[in-house]
Amino acid sequence: MHSQMGLLRELQSLDLYIDRLRQEVAELDRGERLRAKIERSRQRLEDVKARYQEIHAEAIDQELRLQAFDERLRRAEADLYSGRITNPRELQLLQREIEQAKQSREEMEVEMLRIWERMETMKNDIDEAERDLEYAERVYQAQMEEFHQRKAALEAEIEFHLKERAKLTEQIDPNVLARYEQLRQRLGGTAVAVVEQKACSVCHTLLTPYILKRLQNEDALITCESCGRLLYDPTLAQ
Ligand SMILES: [Zn+2]
Repeated sequence: MHSQMGLLRELQSLDLYIDRLRQEVAELDRGERLRAKIERSRQRLEDVKARYQEIHAEAIDQELRLQAFDERLRRAEADLYSGRITNPRELQLLQREIEQAKQSREEMEVEMLRIWERMETMKNDIDEAERDLEYAERVYQAQMEEFHQRKAALEAEIEFHLKERAKLTEQIDPNVLARYEQLRQRLGGTAVAVVEQKACSVCHTLLTPYILKRLQNEDALITCESCGRLLYDPTLAQ
């Protein structure tokens, strides 16, 4: 076994640990789901506000209609008592018209009340939608704080272990290191396998007596015949 296999084995566990930390950073909750929820809450608030604006405009219209109606009624009553109309039949007709108009006015007032009630309900809906949005934003903010804290902690840990890695690689022969890096890239992160009960710890293939003998006798990089990983035998380590 190559005299630097112990270092490579150390490097391998360090690299796998750094890989895991990086994976953890990649998998951190970046708040997409909560952002979508905020968007929905905001949309709902806007919808409710738009509906409120519509009903508000309707209320103003109704108010104006009432005013115009009152104005006409007032004029009709003035006409009635002005003494200008003397014909009893004409007077009776005008009187009936005024009575009918008062009836219509009452209906208009009822409608006005209904509009106000709807406005009141909608104001409550707006309040509720605003509270929902505020809450969703607070939850999102808390989540983001947690995300940034966790990310910073993980990145600091990665940084620390990268420095450890640099110290370790300084002790390794550049050719050996290059072989390791190449294999690691080709084999999905794991370039070193351990000999466990005469088998490769990664692919579990039983190692041939020839390979085991070479491991024992040669100061060379010996690979698993099946998966091609560099073999490290702990029983041969000094
Ligand atoms: Zn193997």
